Amino acid sequence: MGLRIGIIGAGFGGLAASCVLAARGHTVTLFDRAARVGGVAAQFESHGFRFDTGPTSLTAPHFLARIFEEAGRKLDDRVTLVRLDPQERAFFDDGSTRDLIAGGDEATRTYLETGGALRQARERFFFKRAIGRPRDLLDRDLVQPPFADLLGLLPGSSVASFTRRHVGDPQLRVLLESLTRDNGSPPARMPALLASGAVTQIADGIYHPLGGMRAVAVALEALLRELGGEVRLATAIEKIEQVAGKAIGLRIEGGPTLQFDAVVSNANSTRTLQDLVGTGGDDEPSCSALVLCLGLDQRYEHLAHRNALFSADRAGELSAIFDHGELASDPTCYVTAPSRSDPDTAPDGGEAMQVLVQVPYLRPHHDWHAMWPSYRRVILDRLMRIGGMADLESRIVVEHHLTPQDFHDRYRLQNGAVYGQSSDGLAGLFKAGVRSRQLAGLYLAGGSAQPGAGVPMALLSGWLAADTLDRDGRSGTLAI
Ligand SMILES: Cc1cc2nc3c(=O)[nH]c(=O)nc-3n(C[C@H](O)[C@H](O)[C@H](O)COP(=O)(O)OP(=O)(O)OC[C@H]3O[C@@H](n4cnc5c(N)ncnc54)[C@H](O)[C@@H]3O)c2cc1C
Repeated sequence: MGLRIGIIGAGFGGLAASCVLAARGHTVTLFDRAARVGGVAAQFESHGFRFDTGPTSLTAPHFLARIFEEAGRKLDDRVTLVRLDPQERAFFDDGSTRDLIAGGDEATRTYLETGGALRQARERFFFKRAIGRPRDLLDRDLVQPPFADLLGLLPGSSVASFTRRHVGDPQLRVLLESLTRDNGSPPARMPALLASGAVTQIADGIYHPLGGMRAVAVALEALLRELGGEVRLATAIEKIEQVAGKAIGLRIEGGPTLQFDAVVSNANSTRTLQDLVGTGGDDEPSCSALVLCLGLDQRYEHLAHRNALFSADRAGELSAIFDHGELASDPTCYVTAPSRSDPDTAPDGGEAMQVLVQVPYLRPHHDWHAMWPSYRRVILDRLMRIGGMADLESRIVVEHHLTPQDFHDRYRLQNGAVYGQSSDGLAGLFKAGVRSRQLAGLYLAGGSAQPGAGVPMALLSGWLAADTLDRDGRSGTLAI
């Protein structure tokens, strides 16, 4: 018999978990405090411009496809994905540019070949079942020869050292390292296994969903409704009700408590424990981000769909953000110019540009209201100088921005950290497990849970949480 399951949060992790559980015959109610699904995958529209204010591009679409397959549907019938090539255009301070070609080239050959082993290891250890701590790996099914892929787990082997070993060109190294940015830590501190994300992107492709990333969330919402799931938007959860160490229901803010057999939380895992369970949880957050949306009355033809304008002092930039918790004076700007793949994003001849800059998570002295005007100036200057858009400022017809304070307040992210917890060292591999250790009957899904941040990982996390819950229910271990 199906279980009654309450799901907190309609980000990608919550949507994926809801669809999988509904497809497997459970009765699902999905709650979000926002009036729409998608979590950080939001959009801003004005004067004919449409911006993604969160994620813009999708890698590893097979994780998304699997959600639809669980329900006997096909992803291709629901979402149109445009393959991007080049995947990224890099602009450097010395005026040079470099394209990252889909599938890789001679310069990335060794990196991709060796990285293939990292990818296999990550998939084998972290993508198949609930893993919340190193000892969960001590399972006969997982630990069998060859052991070579365990090397990627060793401390001291970082994304930076792995890249240095296999790529000679310093500029290409900076570009490849930046592909792991969704983990929210600096490359020198992240375990080498996380380079597998970059390998997957180059080898399998990166895609723009037509209609923006929100189209993916809307397609998942439609699937859930088809499967009989209930979606309750503009409904915040105040508490996870517990009896004898087991989750038994959800208290709605300003409303009743509803009974459930199990609960999945897609809210940030630290905030789930702190605010909804009341058991602490104080992991180091990842970095945050600034998003600047610029509606332009002109397209810049020298840009690709995705561009990275790198800092002249990348080491100094990373040190400012991650060692000192301060803004970098010369920040790297990630610029998405989607009109070449999705003309509906802007009026004819225009561009709905999204600029993303990594910044530290919120510290007590960060007052973004006061900090924004001068940092906006720094960002615009970099776009005009390094990005070759000298007249950019005079081309702006629509402008909108989000700061770490917005991410903290709107999506209840811990200190505005947009990539969950820090991925420093082993924390990069062992995120909060999808089966909560703090409370029986509580499962965690999303970018702050196993296996980590980024849209494909949040989708996988939702699948893992649902699969684990479903198995626990069938084996009668749910209440233990
Ligand atoms: C600006 C930006 C750009 C990014 N770019 C990319 C990219 O290009 N590609 C990529 O792969 N990844 C990218 N990422 C990362 C990726 O977007 C996230 O890792 C992923 O979307 C997180 O999904 P999630 O499932 O954790 O849910 P979230 O998006 O964090 O959503 C959680 C939901 O829970 C709800 N919620 C929280 N508390 C409660 C409560 N108490 N009651 C009810 N509802 C609650 C919130 O309202 C929210 O809707 C980006 C992130 C940001 C912010």
